[in-house]
Amino acid sequence: MTEPVSIYIHIPFCVRKCRYCSFVSEADAPLSPREYTDLLLREMALRAGRQQVPSRAPTLYLGGGTPSLLFPGEVGRIIETAARLFGLETGAEVTLEANPGTVTPASLAGYRAAGVNRLSLGVQSFDDRMLAVLGRLHSAREAREAFAAARGAGFDAVGIDLIHSLPGQDLGQWREELRRAAILSPEHLSAYGLTVEEGTPFARLEAQGALLLPGEEEAARMFEETAEILAAFGYEHYEISNYARPGRRSRHNQIYWRRESYLGFGAGAHSFLRSPRPGIRWKNPDDLARYGRLLAAGSLPDEEVVRLSEREAMGEWLFLGLRMLDGVESARFREEFAAELEAVFGGEVERLRAAGLLDTGEGMLRLTRRGILLSNQVFARFL
Ligand code: SF4
Repeated sequence: MTEPVSIYIHIPFCVRKCRYCSFVSEADAPLSPREYTDLLLREMALRAGRQQVPSRAPTLYLGGGTPSLLFPGEVGRIIETAARLFGLETGAEVTLEANPGTVTPASLAGYRAAGVNRLSLGVQSFDDRMLAVLGRLHSAREAREAFAAARGAGFDAVGIDLIHSLPGQDLGQWREELRRAAILSPEHLSAYGLTVEEGTPFARLEAQGALLLPGEEEAARMFEETAEILAAFGYEHYEISNYARPGRRSRHNQIYWRRESYLGFGAGAHSFLRSPRPGIRWKNPDDLARYGRLLAAGSLPDEEVVRLSEREAMGEWLFLGLRMLDGVESARFREEFAAELEAVFGGEVERLRAAGLLDTGEGMLRLTRRGILLSNQVFARFL
């Protein structure tokens, strides 16, 4: 393996579960953050003994769950251990996801001092009624205060996450959400449409007919107007749900979309290595107790291992790459797989082009505006 390998750390704790959430996280975790940090360090040490990583990681990302439930000292131990065992590039992007209801000026300053240089704030909404519907921990005012505290702590790379198509939300309210986020002037904005996930309180409400979601057409208009509104504030739409100031895209997320390698640590974490070709994916158990038992027995917790076939890898390369609005280059496909993209996917590409979902030309392939809206249908064609 000669390519860089990024690092993802999953922190599966939350103060309480939001009503729409299906992420791997527990509100009553059986371990303290300190005990969990010890497990993470053990997993890293075991992995480093097994896996040679030849060059330093360009990015490290602490996601969750709620990584901002860790004390800065624990975040510092994680970053130091990753740097010692795997190497971190000089100037590596080190991101921490923070819930505005769990941070203080002191904790943010502590994260900054521990080596975090980018913050992703899970705001989701600037409307207190919506925050209550979602079951979020914080108010809109606390979200603004957390943003100001992040700036005060010296963070010059801050992202804000929002969700649209919420119960009872209309287009006018969504425009106002975007305006409230954009006037804070974060470097990065993510705007995801709500999806109702199985097993969540929202799914139960939907089954009872008690979740009043915007209609399909209104949800589509929210998505379409997002790019226009944010463009007026100077944000580039660079991935289906992501927007950034020029030069401030998330480096870590682009690792996923470019199908580059990353090692994931923690309960529920995913990993992907391009080598051995055409790639291998694995996932750690979601169950914290099981994750802990495997490590205590000296085993790596990589349970669900999938060795990809060449055809699966090709499909992944295409549908992950098409998430980025810059599109994908046929020449890169040739370099990667020693095959012509047209020879493998030509029929499908032509059908999608004729349906107005893909743009082709000058050796590039990109989703059209309509293709972005119907991206799941496009991607399903390459699976
Ligand atoms: S804070 Fe995030 S991970 Fe935790 S319950 Fe809410 S949405 Fe899920």
